[in-house]
Amino acid sequence: MEDNKLKIESRLAQIGSINEPVTGAINFPIYQSTAFRHPKLGQSTGFDYIRTTNPTRKVLEEAAAALESGDAGFACSSGMAALQTIFALFGQGDHLIVSLDLYGGTYRLLERILSRFGVTASYVDTNDLAALESIRQPNTKAVFIETPTNPLMMITDVEAVCSWAKSHNLLTIVDNTLLTPFFQRPIELGADIIIHSATKYLGGHNDVLAGLIITKGEELSAEMAFLHNSIGAVLSPSDSYQLMKGMKTLALRMERHEYNALTIAKYLLEHPAVNEVYHPGLSDHPGFEIQNKQSSGNTGIFSFKVKDARYVEPLLRHIKLIAFAESLGGVESLMTYPAVQTHADIPIEIRDAVGVDDRLLRFSVGIEHAEDLIADLGNALTAAQQEIEGGTHHE
Ligand SMILES: *Cc1c(COP(=O)(O)O)cnc(C)c1O
Repeated sequence: MEDNKLKIESRLAQIGSINEPVTGAINFPIYQSTAFRHPKLGQSTGFDYIRTTNPTRKVLEEAAAALESGDAGFACSSGMAALQTIFALFGQGDHLIVSLDLYGGTYRLLERILSRFGVTASYVDTNDLAALESIRQPNTKAVFIETPTNPLMMITDVEAVCSWAKSHNLLTIVDNTLLTPFFQRPIELGADIIIHSATKYLGGHNDVLAGLIITKGEELSAEMAFLHNSIGAVLSPSDSYQLMKGMKTLALRMERHEYNALTIAKYLLEHPAVNEVYHPGLSDHPGFEIQNKQSSGNTGIFSFKVKDARYVEPLLRHIKLIAFAESLGGVESLMTYPAVQTHADIPIEIRDAVGVDDRLLRFSVGIEHAEDLIADLGNALTAAQQEIEGGTHHE
């Protein structure tokens, strides 16, 4: 069973582990039952109906809450479902302050759906406290941050934002998808709500769609439980099991993702076809120091810009081991072209302001051997350069 005195690696490996007294089973079973028999009128086993709570989902939710140092966890059918559930805390006339370089789906949810319910949002570099102050309104209710951001890997000082937010009675919500609680625990830095697309690193194998919400504080946890059950975008028992299975190896995977991504980022820094590398583990990254202060490691994704936008098409055609695909955080390496994929819903002015342009590629580095990934990327970059430059060498 998980125990808060154990180190995080041990707690992860033991998620859902039980001393099942009858059979001795090591892993927690998948309770597929939608209904639970009541012992008698006015009594419950603690389980009534699957949407409200389910034994398998509950084990996952308690583990997630403990890993993030929160009070309660809520497993949702996707990261977007988790975001929608969180945003249901707000209503007509409420205003949110949101990280400028934001996951495209979150932006779309705020601008196209939440706006219908009278919730407005302003986008700002959340590392700039003066900018936060200047867009704060009397009806501002919360600050929503991603750190690092995706794809540009901008870092926000979580502790500074949380203390500013607290001084104005605002909630701080952190999307911790990219670092996971293995590397960063924003509730320990003052955040109120954590959201994860557990589809990414927590699941880790590109094979389960899931979201998690973790809350701090009794009142907020009770309100979130009400929203989670009322909205009903909850995770199924079998996907809850699948997610726990992935989370057991999170520590091992994150260490390898971190090592591979930093090794490849350093390789690309020296590559003649590349002229910018965005990785907060590189000492000249503007967020390097804050990242080191608030996290114990770096995520496995980073972005880079090729010198010529024309390299992008042949590069994506020539990669073999690395797949051209649209997710992140799995054991298999994936490359994404944000301007036309994940960030296509963000208006061009905002994309230009943050630098998501047609030369930018995002690399979700898997756990393959770094040398094989470098060889694949190197071949594809050389082939792309040769196609565009007609096979002649211009130095
Ligand atoms: C993928 C992602 C989401 C959305 O999660 P889904 O599981 O795809 O619904 C939200 N935030 C971030 C940072 C993501 O990468």
